[in-house]
Amino acid sequence: MNYCSHCGHTLSVRIPDGDTLPRHVCGRCGTIHYQNPKLVVGCLPEWEDRVLLCRRAIKPRYGLWTLPAGFMENGETTAEGAARETLEEANARIEILAPYALVNLPDIDQIYLLYRARLLDLDYHPGQESLEVDLFHEHEIPWAQLAFPTIEHTLHQFFQDRDSGHFELHTADIRY
Ligand SMILES: [Zn+2]
Repeated sequence: MNYCSHCGHTLSVRIPDGDTLPRHVCGRCGTIHYQNPKLVVGCLPEWEDRVLLCRRAIKPRYGLWTLPAGFMENGETTAEGAARETLEEANARIEILAPYALVNLPDIDQIYLLYRARLLDLDYHPGQESLEVDLFHEHEIPWAQLAFPTIEHTLHQFFQDRDSGHFELHTADIRY
């Protein structure tokens, strides 16, 4: 961040009065430009005993498989964001079931909130950000070609929980 989004003046990095951390502060209008973690919302869509994955058509991790997820937009709820991302990436309609994974990624300033979801029909196809969309049984999951540690962690947890017949919200902290 180099310029003030309010007045266009250059920014400097300093600790404002009464604060404890360095911030980008405008030298002209005094606006403090706070930077806070971003929330990534998404879901784990199920169809009978298979789960839906998308193969990424965008960087980073082009060509690798992931669950539908993306940055939350202003004006939507987390569940709405998860459903929107699923529609955008897989053209898939879902029913959100319950929050399933809350994963802190403090090294990249992100938090993932993934829901369990039920796929409503099989009329899905890749959106612009996906090369392929497909359903996978547990033994078919491309474990070596998953895009993100968060996704691998969540899928492992999901199959463990499914075996035990008991799902609950899991939290995890992943550091790179
Ligand atoms: Zn300014």
